[in-house]
Amino acid sequence: MLKIENLQASIDDKSILKGLNLEVKAGEVHAIMGPNGAGKSTLANIIAGKEEYEVTAGSIELNGEDISELAPEERAHNGVFLSFQYPVEIPGVSVTNFIKTAINETRKAKGLEDMPAKDMLKMIREKSELLEIDRKFLSRSLNEGFSGGEKKRNEIFQMAMLEPKLAILDETDSGLDIDALRIVANGVNKLKSKDNAVIVITHYQRLLDYIVPDFVHVLHDGKIVKTGDASLALELEAKGYDWIKKELV
Ligand code: ADP
Ligand code: MG
Ligand code: MG
Repeated sequence: MLKIENLQASIDDKSILKGLNLEVKAGEVHAIMGPNGAGKSTLANIIAGKEEYEVTAGSIELNGEDISELAPEERAHNGVFLSFQYPVEIPGVSVTNFIKTAINETRKAKGLEDMPAKDMLKMIREKSELLEIDRKFLSRSLNEGFSGGEKKRNEIFQMAMLEPKLAILDETDSGLDIDALRIVANGVNKLKSKDNAVIVITHYQRLLDYIVPDFVHVLHDGKIVKTGDASLALELEAKGYDWIKKELV
């Protein structure tokens, strides 16, 4: 599904990713952990195609196709989803209307007609039931006054509706309360399938109690320096990152 080789990237001439390799297959859940400033969000943003970074070497392939020259929208249309891609508040545009527009734009890019309203409603009903999202929430203005948990709920709902091949959830450093963690975990667990893959970027081992990853990677100083199974996250929780840095010397 995703194959990254020797990815090197910088911003304002500062080197951030320094030869990163990562392979993610369909059906897998990967967690990326690592100290602050290691380059985790940079990696997520570069996979999604954010333009402020300069990729200086390496390749990013999605299903065998080099996507490194594609614009963010084109990557989204190819099935890449990054959380918090649409953090804007849009007063007067509901959660539902926003996602309808996003879905129809994706269809248009593929040369398809708008999804028939009946099918759209059915899908909204199914996905919101699956994720236990109530109707009132769906009619609220996008992100306006949303709590942390509600932002997560909206994000997971967008992910459910867009059915990405590759979902990247960058949980950021800022406070995810236990409700938000559960919403994310529950959503990922319900939406994962043999045909899609998920990359969860997190500081919180706790999240990985709910989402059991197939692989845990440690990103340190712009590279993946260690890969293990779910038990690696527990080890990191117990011992921190210093022992990994020492192993590298
Ligand atoms: P992480 O998500 O692992 O905490 P980031 O990818 O956010 O790390 O950041 C990696 C490094 O790149 C940090 O030193 C950070 O200061 C720098 N960096 C990231 N984004 C920018 C930016 N837009 N402008 C300048 N420096 C940046
Ligand atoms: Mg950070
Ligand atoms: Mg980050």
